[in-house]
Amino acid sequence: MAMTCPYTSHIPTPGAGSRVLVVGLGTSGYWSARHMAHLGSNVTVSEARPEAELDADQLDELQALGVILETGGHREETFIHTDVIVVSPGVPLDMIPLRAARSRHIPMMGELELASRFIHEPIIAVTGTNGKSTVTSLMGHMLENAGFRVFVGGNIGTPLMAYAAQGDRAHYLVVEVSSFQLDTVASFHPVVSILLNISPDHLDRYPDYEAYIASKLRIFINQGEGDYLILNDADPVLSSLSPSSGVSTLRYGLRQKARRNAFVRNGTLTAGLKNRHEERFLIHNFVLPGSHNLENLLGATLAAEALGIGPDIIQKSMDTFRGLPHRLEYVGNIHGISFYNDSKATNVDAAVRAIRSFERPLILIAGGRHKGADYAPLVTAALGRVKGAVFLGEATELLARSFAQKIPFWVAGEMEEAVLKAFSMASKGDAVLLAPACASFDMFSDYAHRGNVFKTCIHGLMASSSASGENVRPESGVVNGG
Ligand code: ADP
Repeated sequence: MAMTCPYTSHIPTPGAGSRVLVVGLGTSGYWSARHMAHLGSNVTVSEARPEAELDADQLDELQALGVILETGGHREETFIHTDVIVVSPGVPLDMIPLRAARSRHIPMMGELELASRFIHEPIIAVTGTNGKSTVTSLMGHMLENAGFRVFVGGNIGTPLMAYAAQGDRAHYLVVEVSSFQLDTVASFHPVVSILLNISPDHLDRYPDYEAYIASKLRIFINQGEGDYLILNDADPVLSSLSPSSGVSTLRYGLRQKARRNAFVRNGTLTAGLKNRHEERFLIHNFVLPGSHNLENLLGATLAAEALGIGPDIIQKSMDTFRGLPHRLEYVGNIHGISFYNDSKATNVDAAVRAIRSFERPLILIAGGRHKGADYAPLVTAALGRVKGAVFLGEATELLARSFAQKIPFWVAGEMEEAVLKAFSMASKGDAVLLAPACASFDMFSDYAHRGNVFKTCIHGLMASSSASGENVRPESGVVNGG
């Protein structure tokens, strides 16, 4: 279970001669080890995977820098004979060697915390259960349009440590931050933080929902006078927050309400900092579907205003932002049936928002690795909108139990079978939506792999359907449900 490291705030930044243990050799672990070795620390890396599964070039490079590599498991001895432990985001904080180190008061910090100690440029940090990557990219797009050199990374793409380790200098850093990264921050201090939403997720990694919420709220623990905290006021958890540290809190929600600084009315987005002129923006050219993406736009617009970006640049950025793959991505149309890839909907709320983004009848493809959440909200959103569903992966049984007697469903073994079944159920004017509400790791290497397999199946179907000039729909039959 995840837990925070409450004593990290007093840890000095490691430097030459410090013994540094880096736990986990993913991309951020590699950059942490490399940077600290360059600074003259005595670095050891502890990684659970065996050497054969790791990048040989990276291992050679680290070894040449004098880094000691311990692979194929973690040795408790190593964890308790070090000056500081740097934990990579994917590493569970309750694993036994880390517990042993904690009980001996060995200081620990996450990669994000360590990286931020070497960074002096202003950071815009984005967190939330859903929408982080979309808003992080949109913020990057706005700042670039305003003529700034921008680093966009963190939990999306390039780790912050890679930026800290390299010589490039940006005017601003836009950093996507996950709850796991927030568990191990202490002095991390964004000038603008955006808290998008909180809904049950990662309950397999946290003792309970409250612990997950507490982790997300750590994004603003060091913010104060002169900083901005941007909150989704329509979110039940966030609307009741009122930080007392002096940070300027700006709130947004789709509908206009007394204390909201940004909202949408009659096709116009209104946003204004406190005691300043409100700006109005036209949203008809904003192409991202769904009300959740309008919420994302509201948050990003307030952040852009807080950073002093002018209304013309903000308007141009709204009009030209094209979104990211695997987030309600349109794939194609066969015989009047449209296909959408929302493989990144790895939790229930994202899948609910995806379903609610459509007015036409849907065939839903869902399932994957269960993450502990309740599927009842998915059924509620699906009623009246989803004509039928196809389930695949480990969560099939649980999804089937939730949908039984309410919405017809099929069970598929592979993505191709799921796509064919969904296609067979759809009629002209319907949409087939992949919104799994689950993690991908039971059948795919990640959400992008799952989305790409989905897209490949559809492209295959499009090719065969145009080659034959016929409807290639197979025979359909409900195998379960009703
Ligand atoms: P994250 O980086 O937090 O996972 P993404 O931008 O990658 O967020 O989107 C993840 C999923 O959540 C996608 O399915 C997307 O359609 C959906 N989504 C995006 N923004 C929101 C939002 N504000 N609320 C709910 N779901 C959202």
